[in-house]
Amino acid sequence: MSVDTESDDRDLEGELASAAAGQFGVPVDAVCVGCGRTRVKRASLEAMDQPGADPTTLEATDCTSFKHVCYPCQGATWWNPVAVLTGLLERNRERGE
Ligand SMILES: [Zn+2]
Repeated sequence: MSVDTESDDRDLEGELASAAAGQFGVPVDAVCVGCGRTRVKRASLEAMDQPGADPTTLEATDCTSFKHVCYPCQGATWWNPVAVLTGLLERNRERGE
């Protein structure tokens, strides 16, 4: 699977701000198991089987797959977390979210 080719050009903040990312939860970079796309999604700690975890120290390797909508797949699919976007998380907090 090749996700490196697109990572340099991606606008992570823009993806997080889009409706496709969802409105609640921790920003994570994740791979759709259906189509292999990598996108920023918001996932709750519960959805990733990490209830009560501290999002700022959370590692993607600790998280389970979570269900999220994928537009190319036309519905909800499973997403595998590849990175917890702590930087985006902190930026949200500075804005008072
Ligand atoms: Zn997909």
